[in-house]
Amino acid sequence: EAVRRTPRWRKRLIYFGVGLTTLTYACQDNEVLQICDGTGNKKKVVILGTGWASASFLRNIDTSLYDVHVVSPRNYFTFTPLLPSVTCGTVEARSIVEPVRNIVRKRKAAFRFWEAECFKIDPTNKKVHCRSDVGTNINGDGEFVVDYDYLIVGVGARPNTFNTPGVTENCHFLKEVEDAQNIRKSVLKCFERASLPNISEEERKKNLHFVVIGGGPTGVEFAAELHDFVNEDLAKLYPDVKKYVNISVIEAGGHILTMFDKRITQFAEEKFKRDGIDLKTNFKVVKVSDKDITMTNPATGEIAVPYGMAVWSTGIGTRPIIMDFMKQVGQGNRRALATDEWLRVQGCEDVYALGDCATIAQRKVMEDVAAIFRVADKDNSGTLTVKKIKDVLGDICERYPQVELYLKSNQMKGFHDLLKDSDGNSKELKELDIEQFKKALAQVDSQVKMLPATAQVAAQEGEYLAKCFNRMKICEENPEGPLRIRGAGHHRFKPFRYRHFGQFAPLGGEQTAYQLPGDWVHVGHSTQWLWYSAYASMQFSWRTRMLVVSDWGRRFIFGRDSSSL
Ligand code: FAD
Repeated sequence: EAVRRTPRWRKRLIYFGVGLTTLTYACQDNEVLQICDGTGNKKKVVILGTGWASASFLRNIDTSLYDVHVVSPRNYFTFTPLLPSVTCGTVEARSIVEPVRNIVRKRKAAFRFWEAECFKIDPTNKKVHCRSDVGTNINGDGEFVVDYDYLIVGVGARPNTFNTPGVTENCHFLKEVEDAQNIRKSVLKCFERASLPNISEEERKKNLHFVVIGGGPTGVEFAAELHDFVNEDLAKLYPDVKKYVNISVIEAGGHILTMFDKRITQFAEEKFKRDGIDLKTNFKVVKVSDKDITMTNPATGEIAVPYGMAVWSTGIGTRPIIMDFMKQVGQGNRRALATDEWLRVQGCEDVYALGDCATIAQRKVMEDVAAIFRVADKDNSGTLTVKKIKDVLGDICERYPQVELYLKSNQMKGFHDLLKDSDGNSKELKELDIEQFKKALAQVDSQVKMLPATAQVAAQEGEYLAKCFNRMKICEENPEGPLRIRGAGHHRFKPFRYRHFGQFAPLGGEQTAYQLPGDWVHVGHSTQWLWYSAYASMQFSWRTRMLVVSDWGRRFIFGRDSSSL
């Protein structure tokens, strides 16, 4: 009856869609992977990494124009936003990874991939030194050298431990697929250990104390996932020990999710309280041993808590290869590679950097500016008028939407309120070090990449750079550009501009928070469905899309798998 009632035009549209999709896939299956022989005149582009930035570049680069070579210790791309779901088996690890060869295969791409780690970049001789641990060469050490015409550095970042003793040895990180798999095993092992006969109540409590260090988006999402896993699945399977389970989130600052709007922070904190997640704010972890975690707080002093499993998620740090490279190109002790608006690494030729390995420097600028703003926040009479500040900020916000978002975030709330409440000209800011303020603003102005370390940024950078590379040949052949811009002094490519599409914070219990640019914030069950749709549509291929959606379906019907495989 339903089919009969469907209008004819809609039926035709559906048949057309199905036909077209089948045809597309049939054609794709017949595509042949072309391997470039490397003897042509094409310039050689070497890409380091297969993460968000590099994979996005690889997906968009026209391989008929370049000899493309990829070097990375892993031969797949990982959809990192779903890593917390892998820790509890909501989604399987293989559902969120895409083999790097698949990324280019569908586009008849010619490229070479080497599963190896680059340990040295030599910009003078235009070479990268690599080491593979999947096999040895005739020298017996697995080392080889690759020369390049253009180098794309997208090696990402590593977890930052702030040199806290015992973290590397005793905590899990949540950065790679293997980390998520290890966490999953470890959670289940803790439950099995706590269920053994002849162990004390203290021991059971210790084993089932799960600690998350860091109240950022990753830590919060993992804590929420774990809470759901325990309550929806493990509590039924381990009824005898469920009363001993305790999940703690330790945060050095006053609140969690501080990069989000304060309404989201407040909602998340209240939800965690209701769920029984122990939120310890203003606690700084100073040491982790195999038995307990030592932390300090101005009120309580130093305390040590026993734990069963700990996940360290306090942000990202610089990879050694980047530190070494920065020294070579005279960028000194920065925390990440500085690039210009066209993503070219400053201090050397033909090297581009994108993604997390180039974003921490931007964060440094943000921190500098934030420090200045905090000074302004403390005292409100001086020589710099609020109106002036507003004017400067208006200019900056127009150029960098991310700064506006940041200013509206919780961290900057006091400062923002101060500007909102004042009447503009009359109120003055005292003791504000204007020189410092100006310096910070100048720095903001010179650093176009005022961006956070997110997949969104990395993917947009990769796409932008690939498009520039695709047009580079035309530009070289016709350096003056089209008639309409000749003599106008334009650069041949527009600088990179980031478009912010908002950010999600899954909070568990089928509730997610979403913050869009501007003041639009939404939290709840409907946003969870938006999250499902967004993350399904963002998958790199139909294969992973189907796998992820079927994993979600499986979880709804059968629950999560609790075997510690
Ligand atoms: P990566 O994706 O980390 O890739 C780096 C690549 O370089 C890897 O392939 C690595 O193997 C390779 N590599 C490393 N060292 C070398 C070397 N020496 N030589 C060659 N290759 C090397 N962002 C969002 O926008 N939204 C989210 O919801 C979100 N959730 C996240 C959840 C988790 C658990 C994590 C860890 C991150 C999340 N992020 C999210 C952040 C996002 O994943 C990163 O910003 C993004 O991965 C950065 O991309 P990248 O290409 O710079 O680095």
